[in-house]
Amino acid sequence: MSKAKAYSAASATSPLVRTTIPRRDPTEHDVQIGILFCGICHSDLHTVRNEWSSVMATTYPCVPGHEIVGRVTQIGNEVTGFRPGDLVGVGCMVDSDHSCPSCRANVEQFCPDVTFTYNSPDKHLGGVTYGGYSESIVVDERFVLRVPANLESAGVAPLLCAGITTYSPIRRWGDIKGKKVGVVGLGGLGHMGVKFARAFGARVVVFTTSPNKKEDALRLGADEVVVSRNADEMKKHAGSFDFILDTISADHDINAYIHMLGLDGNITLVGAPETPFPVSAFALLFGRKSLSGSLIGGIKETQEMLDFCGEHNITTDVEVIPIQKINEAYERLLKSDVKYRFSIEMGSLKLT
Ligand code: NAP
Ligand code: ZN
Repeated sequence: MSKAKAYSAASATSPLVRTTIPRRDPTEHDVQIGILFCGICHSDLHTVRNEWSSVMATTYPCVPGHEIVGRVTQIGNEVTGFRPGDLVGVGCMVDSDHSCPSCRANVEQFCPDVTFTYNSPDKHLGGVTYGGYSESIVVDERFVLRVPANLESAGVAPLLCAGITTYSPIRRWGDIKGKKVGVVGLGGLGHMGVKFARAFGARVVVFTTSPNKKEDALRLGADEVVVSRNADEMKKHAGSFDFILDTISADHDINAYIHMLGLDGNITLVGAPETPFPVSAFALLFGRKSLSGSLIGGIKETQEMLDFCGEHNITTDVEVIPIQKINEAYERLLKSDVKYRFSIEMGSLKLT
């Protein structure tokens, strides 16, 4: 066992502070990674503040972080896919049972025994798993991703969650070329949704509560931007969308977006607000519309997404911060004041 510097929260109301956590010695199938960058996902904030207590309560201390890019520092004897020095990524999962129907179907995120990167029972050390706000991590090689060499690491890290979470439902929808696609919320997930929908040839409309993001949305690939608090702008698009991706992290009126769908249109939720919201049955019945959800993506699809990003030179737009600014970054995230993902430079841990 070794010790690693990290940042953790002691309770739902505590700030994140410097700590030391144990990391296991690599077993024969493990890869030890020195972390270079870790993105800040809104799920980190939900978890640190125990906002999902009814579904998955937080165990403290909590070390979040599931958008990890780093270099392999050591490998177990049986590891075949990686060598020391390789640039690699780790996303939201670090293990699963490898045998259930979900694992066999390459959707390990739905394995009943999935181990998430943080706040899951740790099968090796006991307690819970600790995430990427840390200098190192040890992961079974089956959950380690190869990072295309041409991409810049700070902007790759958030692809491991924000990237795959938006790529997966867009791909699953089918051929969106020429279709009218809405992306609701221009945050970490939303701005990647825009990039992917655009890359697959959709006509993209962004719905935002932040008028000051309008120009960015167009630059990122949107054809049109609707300020969702403007009723006239909203009315113009009623009944016209094939597919809408809802990335909002807070309570909002989902029915307003169901009304935007055309015949057989689908709205997929990836945002995970704390409180359930009422859905109008009639909004779905008229027009045979559907409402669904999507959770990250499997390992195979995550690698496919990274390779696609490598080929098309797609990364996340990031603001790189030192770990010492983490609590300030959480407050800014809550105000939608980040363009469009914080990426923590983990070398800064050495300074504390
Ligand atoms: P984020 O960067 O904070 O983006 C969320 C965006 O939602 C904001 O930028 C803002 O966009 C909009 N928004 C925030 N508060 C709002 C409100 N009260 N009303 C309307 N719009 C509001 O968060 P993120 O990291 O992209 O994550 C978004 C959500 O997805 C979170 O709930 C997160 O936990 C969840 N998530 C789910 C998965 C999954 O697998 N399904 C994976 C990762 C994250 P505008 O300024 O443009 O309005
Ligand atoms: Zn995430």
